Amino acid sequence: MDEFGMGSKTIFSIHGPTVNPAAASDDPGPRAAGGSSGGSAAAVAAGQCRIALGSDTGGSVRLPAAWCGVVGFKPTYGRISRHGLVAYGSSLDTVGVLGRTVDDVRAAFQAVSVSDARDMTCMTQQVRSRIDRLVAQARPPASSVNKPLSGICIGIPAEYWVDELSDTTVDAWRSGADRLASLGADIVSVSLPHTKSALPVYYTIALAEASSNLARYDGIRYGRRSSEQPPNEATNASQKYANTRSEGFGDEVQRRILLGTYVMTSAACQQFYAPAQKLRRLIQQDFDAAFALPNAMHSGNRSRGEGVDALLFPTAIGPAPKLDGSSEESRVEAYVNDVMTVPASLAGIPAVSVPAGVSKNGLPVGLQLVAQYGDDEFLLETASRLCS
Ligand code: GLN
Repeated sequence: MDEFGMGSKTIFSIHGPTVNPAAASDDPGPRAAGGSSGGSAAAVAAGQCRIALGSDTGGSVRLPAAWCGVVGFKPTYGRISRHGLVAYGSSLDTVGVLGRTVDDVRAAFQAVSVSDARDMTCMTQQVRSRIDRLVAQARPPASSVNKPLSGICIGIPAEYWVDELSDTTVDAWRSGADRLASLGADIVSVSLPHTKSALPVYYTIALAEASSNLARYDGIRYGRRSSEQPPNEATNASQKYANTRSEGFGDEVQRRILLGTYVMTSAACQQFYAPAQKLRRLIQQDFDAAFALPNAMHSGNRSRGEGVDALLFPTAIGPAPKLDGSSEESRVEAYVNDVMTVPASLAGIPAVSVPAGVSKNGLPVGLQLVAQYGDDEFLLETASRLCS
């Protein structure tokens, strides 16, 4: 994995990069496995295990799943306990499951999706029962065997149709929509107008939270401590912190802590952090407006309205990039890999990436299905139909 889950390629690690095992043998040079849970995806893709856990703050389960050609599921925020997980961005961090098939992922998810008093954001049994009731009322079970998705509406969000999408990705997206239509689903176009803000909003909020979460690594109460002795008593404590944190964190983590600390300063807070929080709300509301199912978190017991049951769009703009090209890539270009995955993270809603074919040079492509808050079972059911 990338150190502290910060990255999209599993290149920020003292152990070196994770190499994508799904790349074709005649493909020149190693390919990125995706990150930050690249090791989990690579292990599943290489057949070392059937399922693996990962953590998804902004796409770290879905992006490596897509690039390695496996299934990667980020459940609704709060479904799986985070007890034991090192915190990155606490309002976003979600444990996810990777596997070769949707059925494997679903079985593992059902085993770990239980309440846990040790994580205060983990849904209680009462909340789970309420959400399950709401979902069951809203959607009657499928009646037609040949057309199991009849009565189901799938949205294609216009804002994800960006120039940067590779041809293979566009083809995979079209075939995925055709496949769902052939099973009886209605395919409609929807708009999520605040999508373009998602990436900057994510990197503002995630880094602000990271700077706060990682403050505990001071080498005094917590974490590794530098053995270097400060020159004199006067500078003792602050110098010790500085040595510890400079030695202990990798460059990318230090960069992010600095950025996160900056956006939380009183001068920058109003300019960056506060607007990011407001935009996050608007991104959530875009999803609520698109889905037929009401959001159990915000809309009380409102019944099913107009809208779609799930959204379909690519997990990444293209297949896995070469590993050796990464040094030429700017920081901002690297962050752009997350453009398709961060919106669902900001909204706390479930999203799954499934394999959807390969590019001309044999690299896997992933498609993402996203559903309303709490609608995890329906999402996995639809994903398994998309793959079958
Ligand atoms: N690539 C994103 C980041 O670097 C997401 C990471 C994650 O989901 N852990 O923040």
